[in-house]
Amino acid sequence: MRLFDLHCDTLYECEKQNVSLERNSLHLDLIRGEQYAAWCQVFAVWMPDTLRGEAAFDRCCQVLRFARAQAQQYSHRLRLVDTAEELSTAVQGGLCGGILAVEGGSALAGRLEAVAALRALGVRVLTLTWNGENEWGYGCGCHSTEGLKPFGKRAVAELERQGILPDVSHLNEAGFWDVADAVSGPFMASHSVLRAVHDHPRNLTDAQFAEICRRGGLVGLNLCEAQLGEQTMDRWYRHLEHGLSLGGEHTIAVGGDLDGTDLPAAWSGIAFAEKLAAYLAQKGYSDELLDRIFFQNAFKFFQATLQRSQDTL
Ligand SMILES: [Zn+2]
Repeated sequence: MRLFDLHCDTLYECEKQNVSLERNSLHLDLIRGEQYAAWCQVFAVWMPDTLRGEAAFDRCCQVLRFARAQAQQYSHRLRLVDTAEELSTAVQGGLCGGILAVEGGSALAGRLEAVAALRALGVRVLTLTWNGENEWGYGCGCHSTEGLKPFGKRAVAELERQGILPDVSHLNEAGFWDVADAVSGPFMASHSVLRAVHDHPRNLTDAQFAEICRRGGLVGLNLCEAQLGEQTMDRWYRHLEHGLSLGGEHTIAVGGDLDGTDLPAAWSGIAFAEKLAAYLAQKGYSDELLDRIFFQNAFKFFQATLQRSQDTL
């Protein structure tokens, strides 16, 4: 089985706890990831809502430098990819194809030029907000009906210009539609499920999901109990089925949020994908559809996105 997972906090936790990405007691490490025939992972640097200004920028750079040092130390297991070709080479060579992300636009410290600085450190995905308010706009935890702030609108256009994918998970609904207006290409929701199945402010409405599909974007279904409504395989299957019913066959992927959310023992660790896939196979999903959900949709999306940013830079 192949796995392309769109979100985890493991890198951030490794740096914080001073443990290695290669082997640790967190939800995933490079050795355990090798249980998959191919494995690509988006590694996020989380920006807590208590961190703002230059302290946020400095903290983000510190974790990104840790990521680069880990990739150098464990280069036989991990390749941090910057181009479509590097992504293919990593997968063909049996390495984890790692993609760096930042979870929280506060990492820019309100400076547009920080986009280029983060890009230079290898960032390819940026989640605009976490749950709170920042310089860009309002996270879904604010219960605000305001959209992106003027800085957020400028910054999201700058992300697109620099080849960093905007990620709308955690963003409030008005902000989502401002992102849709501000960018011309696809964008993603790295770890979100669906509001029609469980009404939660972190979840995507059908209209939001359809917009991401229409633009050729990506939605990584996550595993968080509060968002799913019930942390069972059946409930996850219901979110997936609803997404498929909305035409998401080429849009849906997984964003496990490992080390960012509590998991039941049955799902614990990176083996969660194998367990979910086995459950879905029992429900009659074909191997082809499972591979699309767990790997191919995200792989194709990143191939195209990385290639496009090479072509335009
Ligand atoms: Zn998150």
